[in-house]
Amino acid sequence: MRFLFALFFLLATATQAGDIGTPSNMPKPVKASAHTYYVQGLAGAASSANQGFMSNAGFVVTPEGVVVFDALGTPVLAEGLIRAIRKLTSQPIKRVIVSHYHADHIYGLQAFKAIGAEIWAQRGGQEYLASEEAQLRMQQRREDLFPWVDEKTRLLPADRWLSGDESFELGGLHFSLHHVGPAHSGEDMVMLVKEDGVLFTGDLVFKGRVPFVGDADSAAWLEALERLAALKPAYLIPGHGAAAPDAAATLQFTRQYLQYLRQTMGKAVENFVPFEEAYARTSWKKYEKMPAFHEANRANAYNTYLLMEKESIAPAK
Ligand SMILES: [Zn+2]
Repeated sequence: MRFLFALFFLLATATQAGDIGTPSNMPKPVKASAHTYYVQGLAGAASSANQGFMSNAGFVVTPEGVVVFDALGTPVLAEGLIRAIRKLTSQPIKRVIVSHYHADHIYGLQAFKAIGAEIWAQRGGQEYLASEEAQLRMQQRREDLFPWVDEKTRLLPADRWLSGDESFELGGLHFSLHHVGPAHSGEDMVMLVKEDGVLFTGDLVFKGRVPFVGDADSAAWLEALERLAALKPAYLIPGHGAAAPDAAATLQFTRQYLQYLRQTMGKAVENFVPFEEAYARTSWKKYEKMPAFHEANRANAYNTYLLMEKESIAPAK
């Protein structure tokens, strides 16, 4: 009896410690190719239920070190990713490539910085760091994702700000970084691992949930998707959702969603239909059952409506 009580007590405290110290959703790497791995966040917007694990990150193991792509949405998740990498290789984690400065991809950076990894990002990220939006987002996450995001969670600048495309070699593997923004954000960057044909796209590509469009320029985003297709990757790892060998098909979901927003909202603008009415009249059947629909779709449509108004006044070149 005493033993049972002790066991119960132990289990109870272990669960409690688990609630505070370690999220139950820890990143589990999936091997994508000879050298690349990725972890897939849960579908949906950031919430206490998913503990901020709702975006993907990846890494490439070379004989001379590890390159990480994106840092996940909380420091604890990033520490979990570091532990997972350590289980696969003893090579040092040399570099973190940041796809863009959105909370769910950068709040884990401090964990990588603490182990000496160098952070690389496109220069446009500086604008985000200086913005009020960045502060407001941090406040929101400290409330919604406490204790995973708290007063100790910091926004980190890159150690190396890039201005455009860049390439490097590590351990015999060739990496090319492409600045494809402004698209989903101003500073979007994708990474192609040439020998493996694997493309990490960041949030240019979403799968299995309604994309977060925010105030993105969807016309530029659609053009950027064509640039990704032209790289002809053998395997594509999106910012959200499952990776897939069929890169063309994986791009298609995001492309169609953006096109649908532009088409429906563009038509409303053309006919002077007010937004509320246009939104109510539009069929969202294809998307309304998907994760993040309630959090993202209306704002995506509204921002697209405003964008289409702007485009109708000053037609794009
Ligand atoms: Zn994003």
